[in-house]
Formats: sequence, structure tokens, C-alpha cells
Amino acid sequence: MTARPTFDDVRAAARHIAGHAHRTPVFTSSRIDEALGLRLYLKCENFQRVGAFKFRGAFNALSRLGPEQRRAGVIAYSSGNHAQAVALAARLLEVPATIVMPLDAPASKVAATQGYGGKVVSYDRYREDREAIAQGLADSEGLTLIPPYDHPDIIAGQGTAALELLEEVDGLDALFVPLGGGGLLSGSALAAAELAPDARVYGVEPEAGDDGRRSFRSGEIVHIETPRTIADGAQTLHLGELTFPLIRELVDDIVTATDAQLVDCMRLCASTLKMLVEPTGCLGLAAVRERAAQLQGQRVGVVISGGNVDLAQFCALVGSAQEESS
Ligand SMILES: *Cc1c(COP(=O)(O)O)cnc(C)c1O
Repeated sequence: MTARPTFDDVRAAARHIAGHAHRTPVFTSSRIDEALGLRLYLKCENFQRVGAFKFRGAFNALSRLGPEQRRAGVIAYSSGNHAQAVALAARLLEVPATIVMPLDAPASKVAATQGYGGKVVSYDRYREDREAIAQGLADSEGLTLIPPYDHPDIIAGQGTAALELLEEVDGLDALFVPLGGGGLLSGSALAAAELAPDARVYGVEPEAGDDGRRSFRSGEIVHIETPRTIADGAQTLHLGELTFPLIRELVDDIVTATDAQLVDCMRLCASTLKMLVEPTGCLGLAAVRERAAQLQGQRVGVVISGGNVDLAQFCALVGSAQEESS
């Protein structure tokens, strides 16, 4: 189960999710290209089912369970997109799903998870350990734990977004991918190593939580406290045992973006591309804008990883800042 995934696993995942996950569009904008002096290809996972790429990994992992495991059901812990992804994948595959969510999770996220048929178990995140709760329920009820990133089927599934992008767009010079626990980045890097070996691959994490960059540089998984950032999809505390070696080997560098840069990108996506992107989903684009001078004339791929942001939060963030510049 802990075997390192390969490119063939990404290909197999693409077959497993075909017809269930959306093949999301690749957006371009001549206006942004002109402003930045490069060619941008945005893989828009904000239009994926449940509003984020996490559906790919969740559906792939669940579709590979045996009949016994399916009957007993699955369990996941998440307050965000992984919860909804597992709940929807489970409903589609007729597998019972239990999701462990914090007591103070946004009501909209709890409701969305329940709406997909997931059974929500709450815990106090200041006093209880969600991994221990999930593992305890998994053991006592025979449920299969579906981790958010450190699992070969999750990594392979997440890699299918970059796989689709690279099948569609030739000759990319660079690829920028949001980074939390590293499922999306390691899967993307597997796809790029095979389909675009000359492209440089970058992970982008919030500046407030740069454990990935520090791990990448030091060669050891760095653990941090919960970072203070609006990029809630990348508030992970450390890379995974499976994702870290893949990233170290296949990724060129890890860079960061500030919350202010993310807000500026949310505004740019809304005003120019007419699309709603969550803060974490803007990490890749923010890094490209910051480095446009080094990317002049290049063909640059970006994974826009998700679009799940409360409208009230979106307005509060975007309404308060300066007009975007490009
Ligand atoms: C989970 C998530 C990420 C980070 O993905 P990892 O596989 O944990 O690195 C990035 N963006 C969004 C929208 C997410 O939901």
C-alpha cells in the first residue's frame, strides 16, 4: 500500500476517473499574456466536481477498493475539499463514508459534505487529535482510511490534472503547482517527468507556512505549527513520507506567495477571466506573476487548484485591496 506511485499509476488513474471526473478546461488570456510577457496555460480545477482537483484522487482511491472494503466503508479527516471529494466519490461508488471534521468547521462545508451523503463526526480541534479519532473509528468499525495526500492512489489521481494539461499543451517551459501536503505536486511531477521532461516544475506554498521549501532544501521533512494564511487548502503541517521523496527528486524548486499576492490574483481571475478561485487555488499564478521577469517569452503552465471560497469571504478579501495591476 505504501509503494511509490509511478507514471503508469497516473495513466491508470486517468482511466479510472474517466467519465466520472470532469476534464477541466485550459484557459488562456491574451490580456494577461501581454501584461506578463509570457504564454500562460491555466488548468482550471476550480471547475472540477466539488470545486477542486481533490475529487480526482478521492475517486481513484475509492474505485480501487475491493468489495469487502467498499461494503465496510471509508473514513477521512478534513475540514476542506478532501472531505467533500471523498463524500461525493463514495456516494457515486455506493460506499458509506464517514468524515471527521472540526466542531468549528464552516457550516457551509459541513452541509456540503452531508449533502453528498457523508456522515460527519465532529471533534474539538484544540483538544483532540483528528488522526487518532479517524484511526480509532477505522479500527473499531473496519473502515478504510483515505488520507488527504500521502497515499499512492491519491497521488496518482491528483497527477491526472497535469497529465491532461500536458496532453493538451505542447512544449511547456515551466509548470507551477500549489503545494500543501504534496499530493498534487508529486502527481504533477510524475506526469511532467514523462510527458514534458524539459519543463521545470515548481511547487508554490504560502509564505507563512514554508515547511515544503525548508524540507526541500534541508533534505528532511520539516514540521511546522498551523500557519496563519488565507490559503486554507495549504495549511498542512508537513509533507508526506511518499510525497517528499518524489518532490525532492522530480521538482526543480519550491517557492512561496504572500496572502496579499493571492488576493491580487483572486481579483485578476475574477475581473479578467470571469472566474472564482479560492486563495489556495491562486498560489501558482501568484508565483508566476512575481517571477514574470525570469519567464519572459516562455510557455508556462499553472494548476488553478480550486474555487471553494465563501462568497462573503471572497468579497471581504477582494473588496478591501487595491485595484489589480495587470
Ligand atoms: C488540498 C489542496 C491543495 C494542496 O494539495 P496537496 O495535495 O495537499 O499538496 C491546493 N489547493 C487546493 C484548492 C486544495 O484543496
